[in-house]
Amino acid sequence: MSDNQKSLFVVFTGAPGCGKGTQARILKEKTGIAHLSTGEMLRQFAQKDTPLGKELKAALDKGEFASDEMIIEMVKNRIDEPDCKHGFILDGFPRTLPQAEVLEGMLAEKGIKLNAVLEIQVPDEIIMERILGRYACMKCGAGYHDKFQKPKIWGVCDACGGTEFSRRKDDNKETVHNRLVNYRMLTYPTIPFFESRGLLKTVDGTGTIEAVSRKIDAVLGLE
Ligand code: AMP
Repeated sequence: MSDNQKSLFVVFTGAPGCGKGTQARILKEKTGIAHLSTGEMLRQFAQKDTPLGKELKAALDKGEFASDEMIIEMVKNRIDEPDCKHGFILDGFPRTLPQAEVLEGMLAEKGIKLNAVLEIQVPDEIIMERILGRYACMKCGAGYHDKFQKPKIWGVCDACGGTEFSRRKDDNKETVHNRLVNYRMLTYPTIPFFESRGLLKTVDGTGTIEAVSRKIDAVLGLE
């Protein structure tokens, strides 16, 4: 992104499987701003063969949250990196009210104003179907779905030609149930918090990836 382009600082929120990650990747592609997925950062951390890596892996596999302290430290460091200068999409953070409160203070300190907190709304039945069918290319990370987004040639990634794919370990029925409960209990309270700050925008996340992306562009004034 060049210096004279408009900056854009947004939070994508919503239940697991609502499409935050997919839509954040599309918005990054379109605008050049950084995509900060705390889930992705944690999954990388959990691959480390260290006591903390192992502990984290066990928690993520069960759908449990990482500690606020750890996440906050990660995000604080990440948003200081040069690719965040003109904007970022926070995907999966803040996930608790304390995280939202710290984010507000952190951004005020850095002189960053959020443009919007965008909640992508999708009913639970659709969420299950979306999560249980999704998988990704192991080489480039491009996302696919058994039913909704198949590669053009079966077994070959459209983006990079990779032929190996994987599913997230936490994308199983029981863990998704835990993640939905955690969303209601721990993450949902951040919605009225951001609403009270005049930042909340909601988008209906049902429909095709392209249709939801167009709705997001409209809400963010990017058309
Ligand atoms: P996601 O890729 O956003 O679905 O995140 C995957 C998992 O990482 C979640 O189910 C949580 O266990 C953990 N996680 C991601 N972001 C956070 C956060 N901000 N706070 C605590 N745990 C998180």
